[in-house]
Amino acid sequence: MQNTLKTFDKIVRELLEDEQNFPVSEFVPSNELYETLDLSLNESGISNEDLETALQDLVLKTPRTATNAFFNQLFGGRNDKAVLGDLLAVILNNSMYTYKAAGPQIGVEKITLREVCKLIGWDELSNGTYAPGGSMTNYMSMVMARDAFDGSIKNKGVNKKMTVYTSKESHYSIPKNAAFSGIGREQVRYVPSDKFGKMNIDELQKIIEQDVQNGYSPIMVNLTAGTTVMGAFDPIRPVREICDKYGLWMHVDGAYCGSVIFSEKYKHLIDGVELVDSFSFNAHKMIGTPLSCSIIVVKNKQYLHDSFSNDASYLYQTDQDEFNLGKTSLQCGRRNDALKFWTLWKSVGTNGLEKIVDHQFHLANVAREYLRSNSDYKLYSYDDSISICFNYKGIPAKAICTALYEHSELLVGYGTFNGDEFIRLVTINAQNEEKDVLNFFHLLESFVEKYSDLFLPAEASK
Ligand SMILES: *Cc1c(COP(=O)(O)O)cnc(C)c1O
Repeated sequence: MQNTLKTFDKIVRELLEDEQNFPVSEFVPSNELYETLDLSLNESGISNEDLETALQDLVLKTPRTATNAFFNQLFGGRNDKAVLGDLLAVILNNSMYTYKAAGPQIGVEKITLREVCKLIGWDELSNGTYAPGGSMTNYMSMVMARDAFDGSIKNKGVNKKMTVYTSKESHYSIPKNAAFSGIGREQVRYVPSDKFGKMNIDELQKIIEQDVQNGYSPIMVNLTAGTTVMGAFDPIRPVREICDKYGLWMHVDGAYCGSVIFSEKYKHLIDGVELVDSFSFNAHKMIGTPLSCSIIVVKNKQYLHDSFSNDASYLYQTDQDEFNLGKTSLQCGRRNDALKFWTLWKSVGTNGLEKIVDHQFHLANVAREYLRSNSDYKLYSYDDSISICFNYKGIPAKAICTALYEHSELLVGYGTFNGDEFIRLVTINAQNEEKDVLNFFHLLESFVEKYSDLFLPAEASK
């Protein structure tokens, strides 16, 4: 193991150095992957030296998500304290189902969940768990909604036409989860959004009422805190009344921007979050821990237990349910996703997490200001969003994003809203500074100038 750690150290140092010079890795087209890299698995093994070389090559050619040129998805950066925690979790290799197998790590997980519940303003009746991603925390919310509606479904199966409500701008995991949970994709109702990308509450009320008239059983409303494209926040407070009226579970999918709970300045964006039944967020997005670090908390922990506990005498042999976290989790064996979050939180304090969140909004403001002051750009985003959606010189977003990728310049994606397609820059990497954001635009501009022939046909047709 000692030698292996040296190898690890060496490969990582090399990567860090290379990232300084080349924030984007060499473009490896998918159809040339197996010719470019030797990924073959053979009867015989290879020497340690050859393995090191193979790994170096692989690591250096892998997309770089921690640099100031990665804006492609809703994560980025490399927080060293969180990485330290995650590396230790790998070395320790506990499984989080029982206190017997994970010991103090159970306390680590429990205390992060308790603090999150306290930030929301919930009492000891609340609790939560970690799941492998925001899609899965959303899934857990849907299963709890289903079981809260009818506790017999988990034994007898689905026999009612249940409906769930989410905005048109919500994450694609909602229909997927409807398929998994027996609710069915066709029973997902997509509520229209307003021009800011927020759910239209009058429409929500109308659609629910219509379903009731038609004999459906509405079970839940899913709200989004930070929609995937526009970064919009659905209103929470007014939806509580509707949920009470129809007896619906209320979930807030804060995978992208739910971390605003750590910010005095921005937590107003999820005003009313204490009224929901469940709330989830990804610490691997705004907080910047390594993937994945996804938390769901519920106001009443009984629902977690009712939907996810199962007796297993071969597993639960000591201690109380309260310390055997397998009784409230989606999985059986479960990696320790809490230690990285705890390590970071312990290191910088809640104030440090707040700074991380606030800085991303600051970077977003810097980007919006730049775009507003430059007439070559058209801005589609609104304030209080860390998704900066724009077009440059009327060039189709897809063409620019693909060319930037294929030339190893910048990794950034595109999205659509209300029929417009645009580049979506996300200021989610809190390690970036103002100059990194401005540099993004300067790189983009000089790239378009240098490769203007790539974009000529599109420009000519405008
Ligand atoms: C990213 C995201 C998810 C999914 O989270 P994963 O961890 O990628 O599964 C769900 N909802 C929203 C709003 C997201 O932005």
